[in-house]
Amino acid sequence: MFEERPQRILTSRKNSNTTECIDEPKMGMPSTSDFREPYNVYDPNRCLELDMLSMPSLVASLPDRVSIISALSNCSSTGNLDVGRMYHALAFKTGYIGNKFVATSLVDMYVKCGNMEHARKTFEGLSDLDIVSFNSLISGYPSNGLSGRALDIFMEAQSAEIGPNEYTFSILFTVCGTILAVEEGKQLHAQAVKMEYFSNIAVGNSLLTMYSKFGMMDEVEILFENLPNRNHISWTVVITGFYKQERFEMALKQFNCMRHNSGIEPNEYTFTVIFACSSGMKERNYGMTLHAQAIKNGMASDVFVGTAIIDMYSGFGEIVYAEKMFKELGSLASDVSWNALIAGYVRNEKCEEAMETLHKMIMNGVTCDQFTYSNILKACSALPSLTMGEQIHSRVIKANYKSNIQVGSSLLEMYAKCGSLVDAEHIFNQIKCRDVVLWNTMIKAYSQYGYLKKAIFLFNNMVEEGTMPTSATFLALFSACSHSGLLEEGQELFQSMIVDYGIIPEENHYSCMVDLLGRAGQLEKAREFIKGLPIKPTSAIWRPLLASCRYHRNFKLAEFVARRILETDPDDATVYITLSNMYAEAGRWGDVEKQRALMELKGVKKEPGCSWIEVNNKLHKFYSGDMRHPKMSKIYEKLRELVRQTKNMGYVPDTNFVLHQGVGVSKEEQILCHSEKLAVCFGLLSLPPGRPIRVFKNLRVCADCHSAMKYISRLTNRDIVLKDNYRFHHFKRGCCSCGDYW
Ligand code: ZN
Ligand code: ZN
Repeated sequence: MFEERPQRILTSRKNSNTTECIDEPKMGMPSTSDFREPYNVYDPNRCLELDMLSMPSLVASLPDRVSIISALSNCSSTGNLDVGRMYHALAFKTGYIGNKFVATSLVDMYVKCGNMEHARKTFEGLSDLDIVSFNSLISGYPSNGLSGRALDIFMEAQSAEIGPNEYTFSILFTVCGTILAVEEGKQLHAQAVKMEYFSNIAVGNSLLTMYSKFGMMDEVEILFENLPNRNHISWTVVITGFYKQERFEMALKQFNCMRHNSGIEPNEYTFTVIFACSSGMKERNYGMTLHAQAIKNGMASDVFVGTAIIDMYSGFGEIVYAEKMFKELGSLASDVSWNALIAGYVRNEKCEEAMETLHKMIMNGVTCDQFTYSNILKACSALPSLTMGEQIHSRVIKANYKSNIQVGSSLLEMYAKCGSLVDAEHIFNQIKCRDVVLWNTMIKAYSQYGYLKKAIFLFNNMVEEGTMPTSATFLALFSACSHSGLLEEGQELFQSMIVDYGIIPEENHYSCMVDLLGRAGQLEKAREFIKGLPIKPTSAIWRPLLASCRYHRNFKLAEFVARRILETDPDDATVYITLSNMYAEAGRWGDVEKQRALMELKGVKKEPGCSWIEVNNKLHKFYSGDMRHPKMSKIYEKLRELVRQTKNMGYVPDTNFVLHQGVGVSKEEQILCHSEKLAVCFGLLSLPPGRPIRVFKNLRVCADCHSAMKYISRLTNRDIVLKDNYRFHHFKRGCCSCGDYW
């Protein structure tokens, strides 16, 4: 879909608005005074500042017309405006300014040096206009960020009855593609066909590029079929066009046609695009065949192709092949190749390797950019390591990337995921120019910590500031409502998403709504909701209902839901585990045994609870009842002391959901050893007073640990941030951010 923009009528001379918002230069009538300024260069002091080498024979004698043109051309290619202006003055003094070729060279010089105001004034001083001089000016505006003006100049040429040539068409098609001027592009296309410029290969290629930028791939296909002359650029434009539209199969089809039928060999660029396509299609075997082909064509060692191969293999989860390719590039590896390897590690959850690669990258003197920082911050979030995240943050500040929106979003996400919401808020407030990703990240962070009001407040701000919410915004909001048990608000937002914002719900939105209904105890309504869905319910949609059935102890519905999930996902471990837990909680040991037997048959294993905490740059892992940590005796000592003290404050251990009494271990002993309690005690022993304790857990926190954490936070006057596999709990002075609803 294209952005709405005012349409330009090509036959009208009247200036129309452009989509670019750069100040337009003032266009006054030319006068001699306009050309006076260059005379300043005769100021002897200024002359000394100029590069004398680029002024051949200037002092000895006045140059002739040819030398002026040649000197101006030199200034155009080197971008030397100062010397160019001096030759302008000379042309004026010698009278050559009246010569069409000299004047056009001057226009060209100003264009190439980026001074469109002088280019325009010089152009207006021309007495004998032709398409070459128009082309000089027309080509200048796009390269100086004023593409729309090029079309206005073309209209002036039309009014002066100066017809376009193939070069004019090439520039204008590029302009239309850039500013998405569809109607103007089509009119120009018709004109080019009428004037029989279509057979010109440059015109044909820029026309293909234009339609491809419009996303009109059907037109591209027809045009391409009828193009009288094609070269490798034409093929690459078509292949790239399909790739950008994510029509990977079509891109591959064209690539194969090119290889087998056209007699034109794919170049490095074609290979780069086609590797990205096979990555997008997750066609591992095809990707490997292509790799072999690239080696055969001698292109695999090209840095762009090599980087695309790294990216492709990491997308396939074949990080070893990606590493191998990176090694093969050796010293050819560019910053983009380093970034691709780091991104590959992050994608494949090898965050420590990503950090190591970053250090090597820095040691090798390769410059880190926003992609490097953004990726490495993702690694810090995934570990999660607040210490490393903070180190990267200081690097970001030093490298002056802190106001970069992409890096900012990743910083925000890192702080939120590492359990420091205050720092996340700080980053958010620092960035003034916010995009939808940044808004969504902050809304999601509030949602995960259970701050629904803040999430809604931010959502309203976002809309007021003119940023359109996306499907991800609503996902964060639904989950905030679900985490807070606010059924009505969630349902209203769901309606608003569809009616007010025209967003069609997807699987994860439905899943959130089922969760919302289920948690609020509306189990039958949740079931009805699933029944009425316009899509086939997936296991992801049923799963939250199963969890709610357990919470509300509805066995009949749980068994029904379990069957639905197993129909589509027969090996879903959560089904067996949830049912087994439900039966155990109800003391239905016979059913527990049946589930166990089924789990054994399916090879489903219950994941042991594990919590981890970062202390002194190191992650310390704890399992339930773990005795392996070197400081374990101190940890248990601390734990018993805390239990004694908190019991005096009113803490009562909740042993309701300890399923079995272990041999020689009381139920109270068993819950005492839960991994998050051990990790928190270790944090209290190791971290300086006042520093928040941040613990991460792979499973959901149990009710007893949740209650214990509240007492511990009050007793020790510490903030405890506990992230389980579902959400964040921020315990402060005896209360939790989740409001005990989770
Ligand atoms: Zn627990
Ligand atoms: Zn909580």
